[in-house]
Amino acid sequence: MERCVSAEDGADGVGTGVSRRLVCLGSGDYLGVEGRPVEVQVDLFRRGDGSFNIVGLPGKSTCESRDRIRAAIRNSGFRFPTLKILVNLAPAARQKEGAGFDLAIALGILIASGSVRAPGLGERLERMGFQGELGLQGEVRPVRGSLLVADCLAGRGARECVVAAANAREAGLAGELEVYGVEHLRQAVEVLRGERGPSAIVESEPEYEECPDYSEVVGQEATKRAFLVAAAGRHNILLSGPPGIGKTMLARRLGGILPRLSRREAIETIRIRSAAEGETGCELSLLPPFRSPHHTVSHSGMVGGGSRPVPGEVSRAHRGVLFLDELPEFSRRTLEALREPIEERRITICRASGSVTFPSDFLLVAAMNPCPCGYLGHPRRPCTCGQRQVESYSRKISGPLADRLDLHCRVAALEPGSWIEPGPRSAGLDSRTLRVQVAAARELQSRRWGKDLVNSDISASRLIEDGRFSKAGLDALRRASRRLTLSGRGFVRALRVARTVADLAGKVEVGEAEVLEALSYRDAADGAREP
Ligand SMILES: [Zn+2]
Repeated sequence: MERCVSAEDGADGVGTGVSRRLVCLGSGDYLGVEGRPVEVQVDLFRRGDGSFNIVGLPGKSTCESRDRIRAAIRNSGFRFPTLKILVNLAPAARQKEGAGFDLAIALGILIASGSVRAPGLGERLERMGFQGELGLQGEVRPVRGSLLVADCLAGRGARECVVAAANAREAGLAGELEVYGVEHLRQAVEVLRGERGPSAIVESEPEYEECPDYSEVVGQEATKRAFLVAAAGRHNILLSGPPGIGKTMLARRLGGILPRLSRREAIETIRIRSAAEGETGCELSLLPPFRSPHHTVSHSGMVGGGSRPVPGEVSRAHRGVLFLDELPEFSRRTLEALREPIEERRITICRASGSVTFPSDFLLVAAMNPCPCGYLGHPRRPCTCGQRQVESYSRKISGPLADRLDLHCRVAALEPGSWIEPGPRSAGLDSRTLRVQVAAARELQSRRWGKDLVNSDISASRLIEDGRFSKAGLDALRRASRRLTLSGRGFVRALRVARTVADLAGKVEVGEAEVLEALSYRDAADGAREP
């Protein structure tokens, strides 16, 4: 870091005889989910023309900060110097974005002009970082990417960080940083003067009770069983059934039976949210995220994009559940784009300026009607679709995408009104019971394959070699693969699901019964597609 000189180091700033003062403060911005350090250098010339310029490739929003900073300083009761002010954002070669430098620039001006003095401030500034947008009244507003910037500042030796109060909890997740959450520029000045201590950051512990419970879903025990298998082996699942039977309700409850995230995983999810549009001040949650984008979502909204790439839905669902209702209604381009994250568990967005990779390791839950009108195979209502319509509808998700959905589950239509029975009268599997079974099955998988690995992570050869399939089980699978014309990928997926079914039963060996259950999750879909 360059030498920082603050006002008390000498009346004339750097060296002697030079009529200028230079103050450097640490700040940062981010690209993708990585913070990047930016040094804010404020240069005050003794003989000036009152100009105020920001150089170092500031983006549009950074350029606009001049007027905000001028107003914020005046409205906070400080004098805005009438000298020549030059602010450089280093390294100058890289484009900067965002309003997060406002706070550092304003404080730099106040220190350089002598409005803020404190013993030992120069030394202290070298281990401090600042981020925050200023309002015209001097209020400090939260910014995006707070954790990313705090993390990178901590990595470069910062020990204290001044941020907007609404960002304090998020920045505090960086660890090893004393975080000062401030609501106003005056409070930030108090921090520099040593009149204000760091924020006490209390982490909340979210509970499973916040999730809706499977016990509220009555009469869909077979579908709950399919969700149990999906959660245990981390298998993607496709629900098929007429509209209005609660496919969304079933999907929403999946997060409540998945294992709680580790702290490391939870912080990964916050890094993504921190970089995403419309999120400032993220809080730690150990519950897996649940995302359910509408089928009209744009391509970049789904996979991420923009000139300065922001994460899309596939990344915001990282470590959690991505629910796509009415799957065939999504554009073909969007559905095609799901293949990369499903296979690679990350997505790379290429831009002329370089590529950005976002993690996107999610459990996919897709739902569809059996036909465009929705009532194909319904016990009481007739289907009004022609055969060609039905075929083209199901063709939209056939082939590669359907093969990547391990479990195909047909959700039955129930009597109207029999759906939800809240309260103690409800029966059947509840989330707590399912959660315990999922955890036990995950434990077996970790022991067999390695820490945190699940059956859906395992290659075909390793599954057959070490998956302990009985001869009867493999024979049943081979017979079925001829009968159902399973693709190679479909065959492997059935192997994985069968292994999960056996793990749920605590069985060492995968027998015929487990294979047949695994295959039943494919029969359902084939049946649904028959006109
Ligand atoms: Zn129909």
